[in-house]
Amino acid sequence: MGTSTDFTVAIAGAGLSGLCLAQYLTRAGIDVHVYERDPDPSVRRQGYRIILDRYGLEALRESLPGTLHQLALATGEEPGGHLRFTDSRLRNAFTVTFKDEPYATRQVDRLTLRSILMSGLDRRIHYGKAAVAVDSGGPAGLRLRFADGEAVPATVVVGADGVGSALRAQLMPDAGPANTPMAGVYGRSPLRPGGESIIPDALRTSAVLAIADRPGRAFFFTSMRFGENPREAFARLAPDSHAPTADDYVMWGLLLRQDDVPTGVRGDLPALRDLAARMSTDFHPLVRRLVDTADVDATVLNLFATGRRPHRWAVPRATMMGDAVHVMPPFGAHGGNTALRDAALLGRRLVEARTGGTPVEEAIAGYQDEMVPYAFRAVDTAAGLMRRLTGGAAVPHWVLTRVLPRLHRVTVPEA
Ligand SMILES: Cc1cc2nc3c(=O)[nH]c(=O)nc-3n(C[C@H](O)[C@H](O)[C@H](O)COP(=O)(O)OP(=O)(O)OC[C@H]3O[C@@H](n4cnc5c(N)ncnc54)[C@H](O)[C@@H]3O)c2cc1C
Repeated sequence: MGTSTDFTVAIAGAGLSGLCLAQYLTRAGIDVHVYERDPDPSVRRQGYRIILDRYGLEALRESLPGTLHQLALATGEEPGGHLRFTDSRLRNAFTVTFKDEPYATRQVDRLTLRSILMSGLDRRIHYGKAAVAVDSGGPAGLRLRFADGEAVPATVVVGADGVGSALRAQLMPDAGPANTPMAGVYGRSPLRPGGESIIPDALRTSAVLAIADRPGRAFFFTSMRFGENPREAFARLAPDSHAPTADDYVMWGLLLRQDDVPTGVRGDLPALRDLAARMSTDFHPLVRRLVDTADVDATVLNLFATGRRPHRWAVPRATMMGDAVHVMPPFGAHGGNTALRDAALLGRRLVEARTGGTPVEEAIAGYQDEMVPYAFRAVDTAAGLMRRLTGGAAVPHWVLTRVLPRLHRVTVPEA
C-alpha cells in the first residue's frame, strides 16, 4: 500500500510503544513520523532484557513485518524456565514454572528488540526533537511543538514519551504518576566473565528474587542467553538493519527503599554500583560476585512510581501510550508488554478509521476506553506485588524468608 500524506501521525518518543506503533502504521501505508528527544539512537543504553508475555508477543506479531517478527523470536531465549523466590542465601521458598509452548512468555534483549523495532523506519525517526506541547490549528488540525522552537503538522499526535512525559500535563491533566517508597539499582554483568558461567547449573533456566531478612530489601537476577546470536540472525533476516553486538549476560537489580539512596549518588554510576555492593553484603556470595563483576556504565537507578487513572483527555486527536500513561513498578513484567499492547490497539483503531471511515476522534476514544481498564489492572497488580514482596508486613515476610526456605534444600552451595 502506498503512503498517503493527507493523514499524518506524529509520535513523541522512540521507545517500545512509539516504535511499535510506527511499524504498525507504516505497514498499513499511513504517514507516520517519530520524534525522539535523544540526539541519536545510541545515546541511551537501553540494556537489559525484557520478558515478553502473550500481549507483548501478540502486539509484535500484529505490528511487525513477518521477517522482523521472526527476528525477535529467533534472538530471544527459548520459552519456559522458572522464577524462584528465595531467602537472601538463595534457599528456595517457592518456584513458579513458565510454560514452554512456542508463544509462551520469553525473554528478549531490549537493545536487540529496539534495533528490530527501528528497522525500516530510518527516514521516519527524527532525533534531537524533544516534544513540549501540542497546539490546535495548522493544515492538519494539530501541531507538535519541540524544545528547539520548531513544530510539525499532524492529524493525530501520540505521546509515547515515557515515565517523565513532557506532554502528559497537557493531554492528561491531573493524572501524573504517584511516587512509591521503593527503588531499584540495576546492573548488567557478563554471563561468562572468565569463560565459565557465573550462574551455576541449578539456576541455568531460573530468574531469582532473593528476599532479604530486612523488609524492603531484595535482589533480583536473571541470565539472558540469546537464542541465535543477533549478528547472525540479522544477517539472515534483516541484512540492511543495524545489528547490535551482544554477548549473553546477567541482569540484576537490588531493590531497596528510596530513603536508602542518598541524593548525592543518584546520577553517579560508580557510586550507585558501590551502593549496590554495600547493600548486598548479607546476600549469598553469588549475588556479591554479580555486583562486583558488573559493567559500571550499565548501572541504572529507577525510582518506582505508579500511574494514576486519567479522567479527562484534554486535546481531541491527541492521545498517549505506555509508561507516559500507566507507569508501574517492575514487578510481574507488565510495563513494556502493556506499552506494546497499547501500540497495536491504537494502530488497529487508526487503520480501521482510515479504511472504514470512522471519525478519528471516535477511533481514539475507542482506544482510550479499552486501554485504561487493562492498563490500570496491570498497574494495580504490579503495585500489589511490590507491596507483598517488599512491604513491611511481618507475617508474609517471615513466611518467605524463614519458614519456606527451611522446607527446601539449599539451592546454591556457598563454597
Ligand atoms: C529495570 C526494569 C526492568 C523492566 N523489565 C520489564 C519486563 O521484563 N517486561 C515488561 O513488560 N516491562 C519491563 N519494564 C518496563 C518497560 O521497560 C517499560 O514499561 C517500557 O519501556 C515502556 O515503554 P514506553 O514506550 O512507554 O516508554 P520508553 O520505552 O521509556 O520510551 C520513551 C521514549 O521517549 C523518549 N522521550 C522522553 N521524553 C521525550 C520528549 N519530551 N520528546 C520526545 N521523546 C521523548 C525517551 O528518550 C524514550 O526513547 C522494566 C522496566 C525497568 C526499569
